Amino acid sequence: MGDPTTYVIIGAGLAGGRAAEAIRERDPQGRIVLVGSEPYLPYHRPHLSKKYLMGKRPLEKVFFKPREFYDENRIEVLTGRTAVALDPKAHQVTLADGAVLRYDRLLLATGSEPRHLNVVGSDLAGVHYLRTLPDSDRLRDAMMQAQRGVVVGGGFIGAEVASAFAQQGLQTTLIVREELLLRRAVGEVVGRFLTDYFTGKGVTLRTETAVDAFVGGDRLEGVRTTAGEIIPGGVAAVGVGVTPRTALAQAAGLAVDNGVLVDEYLQTSDPDIFAAGDIAAFWSPLYRRRMRIEHWDVARQQGRTAGLNMAGDHQPWDQLPYFYSDLFDLDLQAYGDLFQWDETIQRGPANPSARPSLTVFYLYQGQWRGALVINPAVGQLEAIQERLKSVPTLSPADRKRLADPTAELP
Ligand SMILES: Cc1cc2nc3c(=O)[nH]c(=O)nc-3n(C[C@H](O)[C@H](O)[C@H](O)COP(=O)(O)OP(=O)(O)OC[C@H]3O[C@@H](n4cnc5c(N)ncnc54)[C@H](O)[C@@H]3O)c2cc1C
Repeated sequence: MGDPTTYVIIGAGLAGGRAAEAIRERDPQGRIVLVGSEPYLPYHRPHLSKKYLMGKRPLEKVFFKPREFYDENRIEVLTGRTAVALDPKAHQVTLADGAVLRYDRLLLATGSEPRHLNVVGSDLAGVHYLRTLPDSDRLRDAMMQAQRGVVVGGGFIGAEVASAFAQQGLQTTLIVREELLLRRAVGEVVGRFLTDYFTGKGVTLRTETAVDAFVGGDRLEGVRTTAGEIIPGGVAAVGVGVTPRTALAQAAGLAVDNGVLVDEYLQTSDPDIFAAGDIAAFWSPLYRRRMRIEHWDVARQQGRTAGLNMAGDHQPWDQLPYFYSDLFDLDLQAYGDLFQWDETIQRGPANPSARPSLTVFYLYQGQWRGALVINPAVGQLEAIQERLKSVPTLSPADRKRLADPTAELP
């Protein structure tokens, strides 16, 4: 028997944690080293803009696994340590403190970082970004003390934080570049539904505008829009997208193009290096195109596939992409490819009752590729997922059935 394999994982986020778990499942002997810049074990970021932010989820329930899991599975977790250089030829990673780790197989799971606004007043106290646990703690403290809050960005993070502010009783204004909330992510029908819903919940929307400056003396007093309006607020949260952390891969000479390029097995241009999660620009066998998805479930599933493949499996990542969001009392679930579509079909009218609901399907070149459901009915999601796995091409009769809530799905 040869020496045990050494696996090094750079990035102790969800993809990294899941990969470590999968490697140990497949290889009981190997050495597993999980390196993370943050001083924490891997945790679930979605809670940071939802229940954890609102003080309704305890810290211990934010973590992927308890400490004992890593000890029992002999996973060496190096927290608070950052990889600064990667030498694929020598199979070595150098950390910021000078330590050098040798690997047989490496996973890059460095995630992404929030884009920052470069406008006057960006560094005023009271202007927040949200990616890490301490970011969420600081935003919660600020939110608890403020009367008025301003949220910048009409994507999911912005919408979730605005929903948290409003539920906390803050007079909340949401600044959105487009004419509808979340329009870019989910299209016109869902965007209209959510815009109306947020307005009904008391959130003031300022659409088709952007931030010109954060204003205040020692700390934030308001946000000036490009339309010239000053919106008063003691706390502002900015959610204007993220950038994948690809610097390490790029400097090492790996193929990078809006993410680290990987094939369907999540293998990079170097066969001993894999990438997963937010940074992975992967080849999707399902949609026959390259994709990069910044969602929790994709990081979770890809981390597992990458880990198994690093330890000797050869499985494609061909799963149906999935994401979710919680906005006030709306449970939003989405499956499939909502990143490239040219047509939407709404299934029946939106239901504005006490439990509002909406179902929208996404098509691309006549193929049914995605679905978004708000407050799904029991059993509805299972049927949709099953159909979407085959990426069906729709006939005119199929389209009618999609639009008719009393008809079976095609
Ligand atoms: C506030 C918030 C809410 C979200 N809500 C949802 C949601 O409702 N639904 C959904 O589907 N998705 C949501 N997401 C997105 C989801 O959390 C991400 O897609 C997921 O965390 C990506 O996981 P990852 O492991 O690829 O990267 P990350 O979670 O970003 O982890 C990467 C880790 O690598 C570390 N790292 C980076 N560089 C180095 C280095 N050189 N050396 C060592 N360590 C390094 C980072 O510090 C980080 O800890 C949310 C994200 C945020 C921030």
